[in-house]
Amino acid sequence: MSALAVRAGVPLGPRTTLGLGGPARAFVEARDEATVAAAFAWASAQGLEVAVLGGGSNLVVADAGFDGLVVAIATTGINERPAGDAVHVEAAAGESWDGLVARTVDAGLAGLECLSGIPGSVGATPVQNVGAYGQEVSDTLVSVRVFDPVSREIRQLAATTCEFAYRDSMFKHHGRHLVVLAATFALRPGGEAQIRYAELERALDGAPRDLARVRRAVLALRRNKGMLLEADDPERRTAGSFFTNPIVGVAEAEAVAQRARSLGITAELPRWAQTDGRIKLAAGWLIEKSGVTRGMSRGAVGVSRRHALALVHHGGGTTASLLALADEIVETVHARFGVTLRREPVLWGA
Ligand SMILES: Cc1cc2nc3c(=O)[nH]c(=O)nc-3n(C[C@H](O)[C@H](O)[C@H](O)COP(=O)(O)OP(=O)(O)OC[C@H]3O[C@@H](n4cnc5c(N)ncnc54)[C@H](O)[C@@H]3O)c2cc1C
Repeated sequence: MSALAVRAGVPLGPRTTLGLGGPARAFVEARDEATVAAAFAWASAQGLEVAVLGGGSNLVVADAGFDGLVVAIATTGINERPAGDAVHVEAAAGESWDGLVARTVDAGLAGLECLSGIPGSVGATPVQNVGAYGQEVSDTLVSVRVFDPVSREIRQLAATTCEFAYRDSMFKHHGRHLVVLAATFALRPGGEAQIRYAELERALDGAPRDLARVRRAVLALRRNKGMLLEADDPERRTAGSFFTNPIVGVAEAEAVAQRARSLGITAELPRWAQTDGRIKLAAGWLIEKSGVTRGMSRGAVGVSRRHALALVHHGGGTTASLLALADEIVETVHARFGVTLRREPVLWGA
């Protein structure tokens, strides 16, 4: 590693998929693990808070920016090794997530194919236990290599200790200062895709479930919902789903269903039983049935034309206006159904 290159006042907006937000007071790009450690040591000496940046696809940065050091993880490297019936694939945190998925699909390694088309880096995927179309990274994750800025040690954490849940892990709570350096997945060579999502099953329409076909089907579904980042898409400035699907008790789910019926909504409330007995509701359904329409705009920000859960930035907007729109949606859904939606992306700055 050469001398630590710290830059001042680096704009963060262009480093997020929303394209919003002010600058970082200090900024380091870490192309190797030693730079990650050196950056934390530098910030500690300066008394600065540190935030770790991947692809910026699940991030909202305040208009005032972030008053600390941003460490952008740009480490690379993927290696594969046989492990019994499986192949263990270890990828550095800075690798593109979808690049890794495409590579494993090409290699005939099953386990990540339904997570095709999700933007961002490998290192961020354990943080919110990234998931889509019936798969979550925790299904195949074996271990996570982390840097602990407090002890300044590098450790290997077994996936079983990461407290994975729906869009959640220990990295969001008590482990939130741990930096993910690499993630190792156990994949099945020659394995067929396991389809656990009705919409994907319908899209495959009985066709053989080879990994490449499943990847194509997932990408097509995502494109239709505006959940694929494409340079020529006028709604490309987004953080994907802006709200998580609420998970509520059985009685609360029934109360929401009754409320919907009493409001004259004939469509049945979508709900999925969770392994812990609670019920997952569809945030997008609640938003639309509250009267928030797809394509609705508030100046330079709005709701995607293809998915009520995705907020989009049309250009020239502010984070304040995006958060005001999000608050408006939360209040509207709460007033209609009594359910409080939670924001999915992480917010940096005031
Ligand atoms: C169009 C679109 C579709 C999406 N679809 C999905 C989906 O289907 N399912 C889903 O789960 N998500 C989805 N997302 C959200 C997002 O892509 C994922 O959460 C992704 O994993 C974020 O990766 P990132 O590298 O961009 O993280 P960033 O946005 O850079 O960071 C997000 C959080 O993770 C932390 N972080 C990042 N890297 C590290 C690291 N190495 N160590 C520790 N902490 C780290 C950051 O500090 C921050 O708190 C979507 C987003 C978009 C824009």
